[in-house]
Amino acid sequence: MRAVRMTAPGVLEQVAVPTPTPGPGEVLLAVGAVGACHSDLHVLDAPAGFFPTPITLGHEIAGTVEAPGAGVTGWSPGDRAAVYGIIGCGRCRACLRGRENQCRQVPPGGIGLSRDGGLAEYVVVPASRLLPVGGLDLIQAAPLTDAGLTPYHAVELARPALRPGTCCVVIGVGGLGHMAVQILAATTAVQIVAVDTDLAALDLATRMGAHHVVRADPDAVDRIREIVGFPPDGADVVIDCVGVDATLTTARTVVATGGRLLLVGLGGGTLPVRPVVDAPPTLPLEVSVDIPFWGTRAELQEVIALGQLGLISAEVQTFPLDRAPEAYDLLRRGEIQGRAVVVP
Ligand code: NAD
Ligand code: ZN
Ligand code: ZN
Repeated sequence: MRAVRMTAPGVLEQVAVPTPTPGPGEVLLAVGAVGACHSDLHVLDAPAGFFPTPITLGHEIAGTVEAPGAGVTGWSPGDRAAVYGIIGCGRCRACLRGRENQCRQVPPGGIGLSRDGGLAEYVVVPASRLLPVGGLDLIQAAPLTDAGLTPYHAVELARPALRPGTCCVVIGVGGLGHMAVQILAATTAVQIVAVDTDLAALDLATRMGAHHVVRADPDAVDRIREIVGFPPDGADVVIDCVGVDATLTTARTVVATGGRLLLVGLGGGTLPVRPVVDAPPTLPLEVSVDIPFWGTRAELQEVIALGQLGLISAEVQTFPLDRAPEAYDLLRRGEIQGRAVVVP
């Protein structure tokens, strides 16, 4: 079969590999669609040895069951499913509470990160990772598994603070951010302020339900503060889907006292924490900071439900498998609106 693999650090190429065989409890899935996440760029950029090579990337997967392995019940050839990408140990305290995204035993990784993923004609996944998607288009289902699930999990963490009429600032309206805006619009009654460097992304944010959009330029903080009424108020919740120094500075400068800052983007920025004594504070008092990772299987089921209800839907740009490397080049240059989805 054809697969797009990271064959060495930084090298992404289409190669021919044997079609994998599902082991006991696993399923061979014919990949219908696989999203191109910005995290894959971080994986490609990581130093040698950090991620296994060669590896088939692609952790946002939806497809059709081709062949269930030994002992698999409940899944038959032709069934359509989305893939929950995390494989926790199933035994630690976090896993036992359904929080496999906090597994204490298995280092953060998953399908397409620490074992072969979906940028291929077929992928083998544990049957326990499959969720039914009903009649949902697989091109729509794939981005729900990360671009949808991760911001949904972040919104779930912040939900107590997302009271009607409060303000939520979403920084970075790309694959995750444009889903974050829709999830907020569909499941809360907050004012949504979207921030991005790119005008097309801001236009997308408006179409997805943002009430205000702000270009991330040197005046951005002043304009956001004006919208959220700071002083004396501020943004009750800030979801940073970029995570570089510039966005973290914006985030901590607009978040309200007692607010929540959710650092979703893995851009490598630093968030200084200095309590108030004799210098300006780096964060307001009572602020809490979360670093959400992906989400839980139960949350993915809810995200799929939002998709099935037509309350959220990814803006997608599709690419055939052999053009997957080009899709990642465009993503790196900031030239993808919404999510690039590869259709093998
Ligand atoms: P993306 O490339 O699709 O979107 C990024 C968006 O941020 C783009 O619209 C871009 O214009 C905007 N942007 C870039 N720099 C900016 C700046 N300085 N100010 C404002 N906007 C800026 O990326 P994505 O796939 O949505 O992923 C976003 C980040 O989230 C990545 O770092 C990714 O690795 C991370 N991520 C984290 C998790 C998690 O579990 N925490 C899961 C998936 C992705
Ligand atoms: Zn991802
Ligand atoms: Zn575990």
